[in-house]
Amino acid sequence: MWNVIGHKRAVSALQRALETNRLPHALLFTGPEGVGKTHLALELAKALNCAGEDPPCGSCIHCHQTEIDSHPDVSVVERADGKDSIVIGQVRELRDAASLRPFQGRRKVYIIAGAEGLTDQAADALLKTLEEPQPQLTMILTASEAEGLPATVVSRCRVIPLQQVETEVIAAALRAAGQDEASSARLARLSRGRVGWALRAARQPKLATQQQELAVRLADLWSLDVDGRLLLIESLTDKKDRAAVRRSLELMMILTRDLLFITQGLPPWFMGTDEADLLRSRGAGLSLREIHGRMAALKAAMERIDQNVDPRLSLEAALISAA
Ligand SMILES: [Zn+2]
Repeated sequence: MWNVIGHKRAVSALQRALETNRLPHALLFTGPEGVGKTHLALELAKALNCAGEDPPCGSCIHCHQTEIDSHPDVSVVERADGKDSIVIGQVRELRDAASLRPFQGRRKVYIIAGAEGLTDQAADALLKTLEEPQPQLTMILTASEAEGLPATVVSRCRVIPLQQVETEVIAAALRAAGQDEASSARLARLSRGRVGWALRAARQPKLATQQQELAVRLADLWSLDVDGRLLLIESLTDKKDRAAVRRSLELMMILTRDLLFITQGLPPWFMGTDEADLLRSRGAGLSLREIHGRMAALKAAMERIDQNVDPRLSLEAALISAA
């Protein structure tokens, strides 16, 4: 039984591949941060080594050790704390370990989380492993978009896209985890389809408050001139932190799309009723075309960030070109 919230299509594709013994040796899970890519990769790792009746059973020794991050054949490789990239040394280590037989399970499973962070050299080294598959090795890469990775790497992987999970599915999961009705609905809305974020926020209420405050402050964005926008962003985001800038841009995009809905007389998707009034008053006077232009500028900035362009430059370009 897969312990996954949402992502039904991806889970059934993986389940089918396992049952027919056709799981590719390399997979790439794509989707927004917090949507559950690494979690799904770990569930697949459990399924590959599970000794239970209905893999992943969640209770055998392999499932249990994978869950607590102590299975000797399952590794997650990611950016080291405070580092901007996954470096070649990490990939070499993985390649050396990959050439050994599984220690305890049937398969070795290596998960490269945030693979868009691979340096060019590291991606080259990884490519060699992907080109010469080991019989008992499954590699799972995760990235926000396939375009953020070298095409040569992507072409060696089966790409499984993960979409944002429906708000109602997340709310139901939060209720099942013991949250009350109102806070489940609120967290599900604030999570914007990122189930991992919603579950974290349920444990750490501060996350949701911060998210809401950030949204309220960002609602001011389009009523300011360019200098004002740059100052506002300066005060909200560490512009050197790629992931933080990406999150801010996503939030700006969502608020701008809500503004689009509101100006069309539709209910906002993200904002609550009070905040929607705020957004309406701040965005008053923007034409449909101007709103579309701002959305295009934000989208372009997110794409640049995913292609490893400097986050500060990408962000500033979006705010300036939307003037
Ligand atoms: Zn199991």
